Amino acid sequence: MLVAGGRLVDPSQPVDALRDVRIERGVVVEIGEHLVPRDGEPVIDARGAVVAPGFIDMHVHLREPGFPHKETIATGTRAAVRGGFTAVACMPNTEPALDTAERLASLAEIVARDAVCRVYPIAAITRARKGIDHTDAGELARAGAVAFSDDGNTVMNARVLRDAALAAREVPGPFISHAEDEHLKGNAVMSEGRVSRALGVPGSPAVAEDIIVLRDLAIARETGKAWHIAHLSTRGALEAMQHARAHGTIATCEVTPHHLLLTDEAVRELGAAAKVNPPLREEDDARVLRDAVRDGAIDVFATDHAPHTIEEKRGDLAHAAVGFTGLEVAVGAYALALPDLPLLRFVELLSTNPARILGIPGGTLAVGSPADITIFAERAWTVDPARFASRGKVTPFAGRSLPRSVVATIVGGEIALSP
Ligand SMILES: [Zn+2]
Repeated sequence: MLVAGGRLVDPSQPVDALRDVRIERGVVVEIGEHLVPRDGEPVIDARGAVVAPGFIDMHVHLREPGFPHKETIATGTRAAVRGGFTAVACMPNTEPALDTAERLASLAEIVARDAVCRVYPIAAITRARKGIDHTDAGELARAGAVAFSDDGNTVMNARVLRDAALAAREVPGPFISHAEDEHLKGNAVMSEGRVSRALGVPGSPAVAEDIIVLRDLAIARETGKAWHIAHLSTRGALEAMQHARAHGTIATCEVTPHHLLLTDEAVRELGAAAKVNPPLREEDDARVLRDAVRDGAIDVFATDHAPHTIEEKRGDLAHAAVGFTGLEVAVGAYALALPDLPLLRFVELLSTNPARILGIPGGTLAVGSPADITIFAERAWTVDPARFASRGKVTPFAGRSLPRSVVATIVGGEIALSP
């Protein structure tokens, strides 16, 4: 197969130029200007579009096993390829949780049967994600886990987390923090501030996130375990990251589209459709995060794709489910948040960096790499959740016009989303 006429943007080489890409048996075999199609070779016309190493979303909730009404491996990975993702890393807050090698093996069977993109499991740090005793990270890594997290929950007991990090020190794959102090958060339904007070609802202060990020980075520094902060949302957490890294801590972090684009005002306008953890913050936080993406302090774009049914998201703020779908809007939403971000940096955040952090194939289209390719273009489109492949049809971006579209997705040399 030949992907012809596109602008190849690959930060791993680095290259940003018009180049054709030839694929054979699922692998990139040749890159060049004006490659001539061979007899019978299929050609994908990428003129006017950008050809990039396949996007990797290292933070998704696929809900299987346990919650097939919200999402399955089949529907979630279809949403992924429609969003331009050739690989996703799925969080372990399933039922049962992904906390043993047997559970990872049964997930792998479902993935082999149903998935249309690559799926890498993230295993739980503690058994059943209860925060009491830690899992066997070595055994989980041998069964395919690429990282460890109790995402959805914070491991509130610092002794448990430190013991887990010490036990996993020699195991590949970072620990990933969901950073919210449960006691400071209480029964909050949004961020604490002017809007929560105006609405008269309980809010979670920014310091609930800052304090856990500071704690976890201290444990990272002491234990030497590689660490990643999920869905960073506050100025204080970002400053903690920058300070820790300046002093030698091995840590990375990600930001979601919603924390870059939206503030707590969205809760006033959209109600439960904008309810998410960590909650949408104030404009100062969103602006600081956008600046941090530009100046290199943020490593990864991740969606925290968290599908629920419309019924679960309906109703008052206190009872509605937390989180919303993200895979199918991500590429457009990131472009809306950061219209001037250089494309090499855009692709680095969506592909090269998550591959490196998780230690998985991809993130590059160098000759010999897997032919996982995302093709996108500067074409505006309007978000219509009814057309999502995801079972989660709720997003705060419904009806918004987004400036960048996914044109095609190729996974292992096979077309997963046609142009
Ligand atoms: Zn989380």
